[in-house]
Amino acid sequence: MNKERKLIIAGNWKMNKTAAEALALVNGLKLELANVKEADIVVCPPFTALEAVSKAVLDSNLRLGAQNMSEHNFGAYTGEVCAGMLKEFSVRYVILGHSERRQYQKEPDALIASKAKAVHGAALKPIVCVGETLAEREGNRTEAVLEKQLRGSLAGLSADLAVETIIAYEPVWAIGTGKTATTQQAQSAHAFIRGVLAQLFEDATARKIRIQYGGSVKANNAKELMSQPDVDGALVGGASLEVRSFADIIKNSI
Ligand code: PEP
Repeated sequence: MNKERKLIIAGNWKMNKTAAEALALVNGLKLELANVKEADIVVCPPFTALEAVSKAVLDSNLRLGAQNMSEHNFGAYTGEVCAGMLKEFSVRYVILGHSERRQYQKEPDALIASKAKAVHGAALKPIVCVGETLAEREGNRTEAVLEKQLRGSLAGLSADLAVETIIAYEPVWAIGTGKTATTQQAQSAHAFIRGVLAQLFEDATARKIRIQYGGSVKANNAKELMSQPDVDGALVGGASLEVRSFADIIKNSI
């Protein structure tokens, strides 16, 4: 598929996989995806599996991501993990503001902006998640919610760092539910997001920023979603937990 921006497809393993299970999954993916050059492929295991997976991806085209990071660089923050710790394992990407963290850990946009600053400060790339709930969509508030989340989560970001940032549009009602946004819904939200990015930075910068779609992406809907002009990849939850389903999403997307 010939796209304006290189596709980036990431698997968010969430709180799944022991280190041994993660290693088995990543080794399977390495075999299946060794020849893929058309997309950046990222796997985001839980912290406890980063070390095992980091060794396995060293000689491969797979890149490593983390699912969260502290906004602080060190210190008395019990239970937190900072950029320096992630860099020890060659992590390149960090998911920030996933709707599960916004919902369960009550992460606000301002905190996500601080985390994004710390991620960039360590020369890592944040994957900043935004997305509306079902009630917000049904109340015709999708665009207002997306704009507020984008302005808040990207506050203070320079244009240079904006192009090193990935946005993931993840409608909350589509995550883990089997309900995927239609291609029109996805494209229209992505185009809206790119418009907000053009206001925040400028058009040329906005055109370089990759926007992933996330929400029940599967092998059978990936191709159509990726064919949309403003859809530049996918953030995949459930279907990234098995070699076959994640590899097929990638193969069907390129
Ligand atoms: C996610 O949680 O980021 C996600 C997109 O999950 P799923 O693919 O399972 O809907």
